Amino acid sequence: IDTKLPRVGTTIFTVMSQLAMEHQAVNLGQGFPDFPVPDLLVESLDRAMRAGHNQYAPMTGIPALRSAIANKTERVYGWRPDADREVTVTSGATEAIFDAIHAVVRAGEEVIVLDPCYDCYEPAIDLAGARAVHVPLDPRTFAPDWNLVRAAITPRTRMLMINSPHNPSGAMLSQADMAEVANILRDTEIVLLSDEVYEHIVFDGARHESVLRYPELRERAFVISSFGKTYHCTGWKIGYCIAPPALSAEFRKVHQYNTFCSFAPAQHAFAEMIERDPAHYDTLGAFYEAKRDHFAAQLRETRLVPLPVPGGYFQLVDYSAVSDLDDLAFCRWLTTEHGVAAIPLSPFYETPPPGQRLARLCFAKNQATLDAAIDRLRKL
Ligand code: PMP
Ligand code: GLN
Repeated sequence: IDTKLPRVGTTIFTVMSQLAMEHQAVNLGQGFPDFPVPDLLVESLDRAMRAGHNQYAPMTGIPALRSAIANKTERVYGWRPDADREVTVTSGATEAIFDAIHAVVRAGEEVIVLDPCYDCYEPAIDLAGARAVHVPLDPRTFAPDWNLVRAAITPRTRMLMINSPHNPSGAMLSQADMAEVANILRDTEIVLLSDEVYEHIVFDGARHESVLRYPELRERAFVISSFGKTYHCTGWKIGYCIAPPALSAEFRKVHQYNTFCSFAPAQHAFAEMIERDPAHYDTLGAFYEAKRDHFAAQLRETRLVPLPVPGGYFQLVDYSAVSDLDDLAFCRWLTTEHGVAAIPLSPFYETPPPGQRLARLCFAKNQATLDAAIDRLRKL
């Protein structure tokens, strides 16, 4: 058939997870925790289902969850969104990203993305009949060059997408970056989409520079997050979008005909969890920082070179001392011959930097899983 997405195949995450399974590899590829979700969350989910919360939830999300999200936003970022008009619960950040793009981007318009970027961005832009304009981040530090972004803006630019902490690198945008974004967008009609799914996984005492902290930015932005990352339950697929009333109204038009509403019992569970254990957000960084430090220390005893990880739960490694294969071939080889699945970076790019020899390893894993991977990586 005449396909609408000719360049899209099966996602690299699915491909590598399948390969890992076939070869009994330790799967550090697709990003998901292999430890349990908090007991309180499972108990609340069970209670919600037994209490009969099994029918359609309100289209925008149950009031208790929207209000818990507003409370949490105020606690963490010092600003409270209007729970009724500015918060919408979605089936994961993936749905929210799709809805936000389709809510405002028209055919023939352009959306600026910073490469490497998460793989669901471009297909959503393509399906809107728009065009992704790829601006490269620094291939080593993954810092943006805002002059390149400025130069990429045309009269057709409708949206700028940013992602901090960044997948796949873990790089974080600074206060100075946020000032640059504000300068670039001032006096334009460009909408900002900020993908902040790793907002609570930040290290070394750094502060996550949420768009929600900045009035000038948040009044033109969709800010998207996901409970999957924060509560170790990527399979529950509940996320949310915070946007000003006019943008939220457009967002909800898409959401209501895309899914209508998201899994109702989990909404009750998250509402209870957020209010009963607000400290979870504050301790998540330290929890993952210990894993990051231990894993990086062990990696330094192998021939893989770990890059700095300011946030998120992915460790990039430079494998150039081990192999001269390109990253797709290297990750396949590592999985099939050495029993450790990793994710190559090239699928996150329109044009991968020539000679880049980096692979992504997920450290959201039990110590035993990471140790098993390290045992194998020592043999490289
Ligand atoms: N954005 C980024 C940067 C991600 O890493 C992910 C999940 N891997 C998503 C969005 C999608 O989140 P969800 O699973 O909640 O749809
Ligand atoms: N976001 C996850 C990652 O980056 C993958 C999610 C998926 O498989 N769609 O690994």
